[in-house]
Amino acid sequence: MSGSLQAAGNGGVGQEMYRLIVELYPICRSITGDGVRQTLDIVRQHIPLTTHEVPTGTRVFDWVVPREWNIRGAYIKDSKGRTIVDFDDSNLHALNYSIPVRETVSLEELKQHLFTSERHPEWVPYRTSYYREDWGFCMAHSRYLELEDGDYEVTIDSTLENGSMTLGELVVKGQRSEEILVSTHTCHPSLCNDNLSGIALCTFLAKQLAESRPRYTYRFLFIPGTIGSITWLALNEDKLANIRMGIVVTLVGDDGPFTYKKTRNGDTELDSAVLHALEHSGSGYDVRQFIPYGYDERQYSSPGINLQVGCLTRTPFGEFPQYHTSADNLDFVKADKLAEALVVYQRIFAILEGNRTYRNRNPKCEPQLGRRGLYDKIGGENERQLNQMAILWVLNYSDEKHSLLQIAQQSGLPFADIRFAADMLLRCDLLEEVV
Ligand SMILES: [Zn+2]
Repeated sequence: MSGSLQAAGNGGVGQEMYRLIVELYPICRSITGDGVRQTLDIVRQHIPLTTHEVPTGTRVFDWVVPREWNIRGAYIKDSKGRTIVDFDDSNLHALNYSIPVRETVSLEELKQHLFTSERHPEWVPYRTSYYREDWGFCMAHSRYLELEDGDYEVTIDSTLENGSMTLGELVVKGQRSEEILVSTHTCHPSLCNDNLSGIALCTFLAKQLAESRPRYTYRFLFIPGTIGSITWLALNEDKLANIRMGIVVTLVGDDGPFTYKKTRNGDTELDSAVLHALEHSGSGYDVRQFIPYGYDERQYSSPGINLQVGCLTRTPFGEFPQYHTSADNLDFVKADKLAEALVVYQRIFAILEGNRTYRNRNPKCEPQLGRRGLYDKIGGENERQLNQMAILWVLNYSDEKHSLLQIAQQSGLPFADIRFAADMLLRCDLLEEVV
């Protein structure tokens, strides 16, 4: 079945993912605070997430869990009492992690606390100040240019107090204890592609994996970027030996081509599985080498942690104009694009689930396939037509050295055909697994 057909069949899920994004969109998230808790509560209506509260002041490697930030409102008013910006219109207006303020300031002073985007004068930029105490507002540059001399009343009704940081986690138990890590960030306020698309995809991916009795155990992390992954890693070092590979999910709802950022090693089973899924997806894609910048893959891939973690997005961060602005909104992400991304992720995991290495039990010349009903279309119980070439490839390369994924890559055939051929050969006792 082609990628586009499957994506169409997945259209209902795309709508469900989009509806989840609509529900989460208004919430003001940050690296700590009630916005994250509220977000995870909503996700919990779909999957049985566990949450961990890590107290302010907890040492996590070279970092410390910060004070908890919460905000109820923020506005700027001019001397005539007219509202210039209001948090109630968009939570992006408040500098994320802004300390509380209630003051009257001159325009000159106010301007030192305003953030705008000259390049996109109608959009509100997203800015944070997690580790430097400051207050501020973000606004459209066009509005900024209209500000007149005079005094302005600034109010940010926020708190920055001892509390905790909230991490969400779901373990989908597989037949094996070996794990695949799936990580997404939960720390951005009203931004759809950057953060909410990843949350939605992980939610529905986890739901479907949980229904499938997988071979691997899947550990989903819904965590704030950087400090969240550092904290999880610091508190769970004993679990790392079990993690075979991982993937960071975000930016999956725009209409750009898929972009895969490889693991630090660059040639792992995950890299091959992702590349194979993309090659056979029927859509364009781009591949990048690992760089120690980006999302949480850079923490998972730090030398002392050394997990093999890639990152699969559509358009990468910073490469679409809407990135970190109010234009990364509900119009920017599309249900069909979310559905298509979910299909690609499902295919990657189907490859990893099905990838094995076998030994041909009849290695001296080809076995007589016709006698075993393998030399024609398999009728009846199987709808999939047996690919003769796949049979020959699997027989020839099942020499204990090549996995099915390697055979798929070498043959240019889709993994699903190779896997199906191997199943047929197993049924005829022509293969045995190498463990
Ligand atoms: Zn971001």
